[in-house]
Amino acid sequence: MIAREDPSGKPLGSAGSSLCLACGLCCNGVLHVHAVVKPDGIEQVRALGLTIETIGDTLGFRQPCPLYREQHCSVYPKHPNTCRAYQCDLLNKYLAGVITHQQGAQTIQRARELLADVIAQLPPGYSFEQLRRELDQAWDSGRGIFGSAEMRQSNAQFLLTVAKLALYARKHFGRPKGREIK
Ligand code: SF4
Ligand code: SF4
Repeated sequence: MIAREDPSGKPLGSAGSSLCLACGLCCNGVLHVHAVVKPDGIEQVRALGLTIETIGDTLGFRQPCPLYREQHCSVYPKHPNTCRAYQCDLLNKYLAGVITHQQGAQTIQRARELLADVIAQLPPGYSFEQLRRELDQAWDSGRGIFGSAEMRQSNAQFLLTVAKLALYARKHFGRPKGREIK
């Protein structure tokens, strides 16, 4: 989905990029509820048609990102600098040689399977975006997803499916403080 660069601006190389191309969890709302945009990046983001909002004490755009379509970034390679700079825990581990490309690809594949399970079991009239916001509020409040009112109203099987994805994503991909792309 995205070709990443290291902080010095060097490309990741085809292997690192191929992990992101197979993934997209930092665009589709699984890892983040929004992407933070610094003041000098606002114009670039608006030019792509994204809406900048004040979210907490930062500026950013909501996720799932509306530019993430058919499992890839539709504006690549003109994606915002904030996206270009972001690297999750899994990508960092791969770049540091802690995990192999195959291990990274397998983890991404498993995360995508768990996400597919969640989407397949969404209650009628309940969107993935609604679920995403509800989960974030639940985490923010310290209740965790098992304390979520929406989740309690749903059936137990769905709750477990969501918990599997949330915990798997947190374990393998991490989430920066505040769940922002920085
Ligand atoms: S979550 Fe990590 S591996 Fe997946 S696209 Fe984002 S940076 Fe790449
Ligand atoms: S602009 Fe592209 S890279 Fe950035 S969050 Fe949206 S889909 Fe992902």
